[in-house]
Amino acid sequence: SAKAETDLAKVAKERGIKYFLISYVDLFGGLRAKLVPAAAIAGMQKEGAGFAGFATWLDMSPADPDLFAVPDPTSLIQLPWKEEIGWLAADLIMDGKEVAQGPRTVLKKQLAEAASLGYVMKTGVECEYFLTTADGKSISDGADTAEKPCYDQSALMRRYDVIKDICDAMLKLGWGAYQNDHEDANGQFEMNWNYDHALLTADRHVFFKYMVKSIAEQHGLRATFMPKPFINLTGSGCHAHVSLWQKGKNAFSDPTGELGVSKLGYNFIGGLIHNADALCALTNPTVNSYKRINAPRTISGATWAPNTVTYTGNNRTHMIRIPDAGRFEFRLADGAANPYLLQAGLLAAGLDGIKNERDPGKRLDINMYTDGHKVKGAKRLPLNMLDALRALDKSKVLRDSLGAPLVDGYLKLKNEEWNAYSRHLTQWERDNTLDI
Ligand code: GLU
Ligand code: MG
Ligand code: MG
Repeated sequence: SAKAETDLAKVAKERGIKYFLISYVDLFGGLRAKLVPAAAIAGMQKEGAGFAGFATWLDMSPADPDLFAVPDPTSLIQLPWKEEIGWLAADLIMDGKEVAQGPRTVLKKQLAEAASLGYVMKTGVECEYFLTTADGKSISDGADTAEKPCYDQSALMRRYDVIKDICDAMLKLGWGAYQNDHEDANGQFEMNWNYDHALLTADRHVFFKYMVKSIAEQHGLRATFMPKPFINLTGSGCHAHVSLWQKGKNAFSDPTGELGVSKLGYNFIGGLIHNADALCALTNPTVNSYKRINAPRTISGATWAPNTVTYTGNNRTHMIRIPDAGRFEFRLADGAANPYLLQAGLLAAGLDGIKNERDPGKRLDINMYTDGHKVKGAKRLPLNMLDALRALDKSKVLRDSLGAPLVDGYLKLKNEEWNAYSRHLTQWERDNTLDI
């Protein structure tokens, strides 16, 4: 899909593309687009497609000048289910300058910072999701009721038509799709494709969510990446596998290091541990996110998400797991994370760890769900969005590296969201307070 050709009008002729979707992702991860006929793409490629920034989740006002979304031609993806449409990830420009709060711009800036130190970040993401009825009220498969539904062959195969359409699409796009499974909640699935350069993975992550939702719709279903759509079922994580590369070699790999991870890798992990609270505001961005990571540990199978700022070997009860030599898995992030801010936040925190040689402390090889209380000083992750937003507000590391326009704009919109939520009266409150 992504080729070196830069002349999109020419590419359209060669590949039979009739329309382009010029897309960008706002601060909340929402995908915004204009559908542009191929006849008009040459001008759009130069000038960008115009948008009123205020109308989307960006920190802008109606008095601001128009935004221009300038497509990155290397990001081109022909919709596998309608190849006459070419999808393009765009960067936001205003008054001739890249918009500092544009999520893709923020990630590119972090990647450039890493490059100036000689590093290339490679990542893979595992986006779990639920297939629900079209109204989103319940899972789509009434027979999917097992108490331990993980890898359930029958439940997986009852959704074969949807899964194979998505997997076929990834194969056609050359993403290196390699496995699909039924996850640990009824109605929940995961599909994996190869890790790659962080920007490519982030663009694919954006497209993957759109693709899964679109294909589910074609089958009369709905797909959701909501972190905790059903309170008694495991939530949807978006684990990220991370490595830094230097001169074509994996710089996190060291056969003499503990678990095959280099000092550089441990410093990166140290940065994530050091900045976890603030990072959480980006990787777990909704009110609902905290119902996933703070789920009761006692219900069997009800959670596989971390609630402590800890790391471990091959053990799924911590924030960071080292399943193999040369990489680690960040298990905190969830399905609502903005794909660009997820990677930008990880890299900013990791580079802070590298620059300051942060020590991640000792690895914990215990079951955090059952024995976590025995560990003195194991820090809890934020209990709610407000705690995470406050930590982000205090974080000099993230504000300095991601930039004040991004961090302050994000905090403004997210604090408004928290306030809207706080004004909402819940049934729980009435049930527990009415007769007080
Ligand atoms: N669904 C779990 C989560 O919320 C992860 C399960 C797994 O390890 O794949 O993070
Ligand atoms: Mg999983
Ligand atoms: Mg995983």
